[in-house]
Amino acid sequence: MMLHLYQSGAFPKKLLNNVLTNSLLNVYIILTMKRFTSSFSTKQTPKENDLIVSINESKKILFNKKEKSFIHNNLNSHIEDKVFEIFKVESNSVFLTGALNNNNEDLIYLSKRELYPYLNEESLMIVSRSFQLFDWIYKQNYCSRTGNKLSEIRDDLSKFCDSCPREYYPKMSPCILVILTHGTEILLVRHNSEIRTLYTAIAGFVDLGETLEECVEREVFEEVGLKINNINYVGSQSWPFPNQLMMAFQAEAISRDVQIDENEILEASWFKPNDLPKIPPEPSLSNQLIKKAISSLI
Ligand SMILES: [Zn+2]
Repeated sequence: MMLHLYQSGAFPKKLLNNVLTNSLLNVYIILTMKRFTSSFSTKQTPKENDLIVSINESKKILFNKKEKSFIHNNLNSHIEDKVFEIFKVESNSVFLTGALNNNNEDLIYLSKRELYPYLNEESLMIVSRSFQLFDWIYKQNYCSRTGNKLSEIRDDLSKFCDSCPREYYPKMSPCILVILTHGTEILLVRHNSEIRTLYTAIAGFVDLGETLEECVEREVFEEVGLKINNINYVGSQSWPFPNQLMMAFQAEAISRDVQIDENEILEASWFKPNDLPKIPPEPSLSNQLIKKAISSLI
């Protein structure tokens, strides 16, 4: 199954070289050292020290050029739209709102892709939840059965259709990433639909009725024609391009002889840990997965 815009596809090409050559570990967003916990309320309003995330009608997020941050304080008086509490962070809350009324030249609106180079693992999670909630709150307003207008969002994230009657919840798409090992080498692929200079993990959407392990086996066989053993879970990441939950696995290939599906894959090759090609940048899960697989071989 073709998986567009997955873990290597989220980077604007003009930024890609910078992303790969600069150490982005140095560009941290100020607040991400604190622990953010998901929360949702339509009834709370921002207090003095609470924080604001603003996403405008064009689905761009407000970014402070000076502070390199998309989470703002002291902007409460500029809010014109509804507010939704989306995180608790220690004794404060983070609120999502629409466009702000603001003339500050340091504040600009960036697309998800433009913001990506400024993200680390935790801030990626915050951005992912913010954009997915924005889509659900503002962009999905009609019942898919009757075409009736849905209710406003409620505190359990549901919306209600009076005529069905039926409750709707926001959707996400589960996807797998898998790195194969064989002896002391790992298999990396270049995808047709992604940035073609990057080598990354095999990836695909979980199919209906399928377990994660079955998905891993199927995707590997479809894309590179290999049978595998010892499938191990490595980690997960929420990915907002547009609404995937990525789940990463490592597995052992029974043989080395790849047969690629040319509709999806340009190339699949085995690499030694000390001779890796260009891989997707941090903080993508595919980057973490490849590094973990490499360290398991050394
Ligand atoms: Zn309905």
